[in-house]
Amino acid sequence: RAKQQGRNTYRLYQAEMHVQHHQQLALETALRNTVESGVGLEMHYQPLVEHDGGGLHSAEALLRWTHPEFGVVPPSEFIPLAERSGLIVPLGDWVLARVCRQLADWRRAGLSPVPVAINLAAQQFMQPGLVEGVRTQLAAHDLPGHLLGFELTESTLMERGEQALETLEGLGAISGHVAIDDFGTGYSSLSYLHELPVSILKIDRSFIQGLGETRRSGAIVAGVGGMARELGLSVVAEGVETEAQRLALARFDIDLIQGYLTGHPVDAAGFERRWLRRKTP
Ligand code: C2E
Ligand code: MG
Ligand code: MG
Ligand code: MG
Repeated sequence: RAKQQGRNTYRLYQAEMHVQHHQQLALETALRNTVESGVGLEMHYQPLVEHDGGGLHSAEALLRWTHPEFGVVPPSEFIPLAERSGLIVPLGDWVLARVCRQLADWRRAGLSPVPVAINLAAQQFMQPGLVEGVRTQLAAHDLPGHLLGFELTESTLMERGEQALETLEGLGAISGHVAIDDFGTGYSSLSYLHELPVSILKIDRSFIQGLGETRRSGAIVAGVGGMARELGLSVVAEGVETEAQRLALARFDIDLIQGYLTGHPVDAAGFERRWLRRKTP
């Protein structure tokens, strides 16, 4: 009986896997079509503000995907899918072009846009033509390079090698804002960090969320903040949601904060209204 049950459970498991596999394939096909047409893709923008004073410093561009059948698909689902399927490369091209067009639109409207950082996945970063592609897009929209920034995770940066370093230097030379994203969640050694031509370090929100709750989070933020300072990097605290967390951060050497407390990611019109047309009272 137990054996029979085991077999049934296994069959059920197989059936579930089958459905899941189908859903993944359907989602991948949908994403492929979306990338080709661009329909259903949109950029949102989240402010990074100065920790002391709250002035707008820059923004992070975050991709959103809405599909007629699947609805809103979160990045935590479609970005890994795009990475597995290789679609992340054309998707990344779309993001770069879209953000450049947005920056140009803002300038044409007489607004002075702040730098906007885009996230680069490992496969994009390893593409031989990346730096050239960025230059081409900037030129096409007549934009200065310092309006663009780039975010790379620790694991992407661990792809050592000549080409990776060259790409990193190329991006840094263009924009001056290259950030290590989600710092603390990967395996990069601190000794390696100082060899990298990056200028911003973003402390992962898991450490910020624990502030005031666990001693450890505070210790990590203090350590990372101090180290980044020594290395001459700007430090960003990610995922600041509460006033208590913001206050707790005052004890550390933090330059910028990004999180729901100071601003959710919003569409271009929302970002324009709230941040670029803002009148100081
Ligand atoms: P990320 O680059 O670390 O982006 C920050 C994420 O944290 C965003 O999630 C943002 O909405 C979320 N966030 C911001 N403030 C808070 C907060 O106070 N609390 C909480 N709980 N979350 C906060 P999102 O937009 O869902 O994106 C998730 C990840 O997907 C990003 O993490 C990034 O790795 C990836 N991603 C998003 N857009 C792109 C893109 O255009 N290209 C690539 N390659 N990856 C992207
Ligand atoms: Mg990011
Ligand atoms: Mg991040
Ligand atoms: Mg993150």
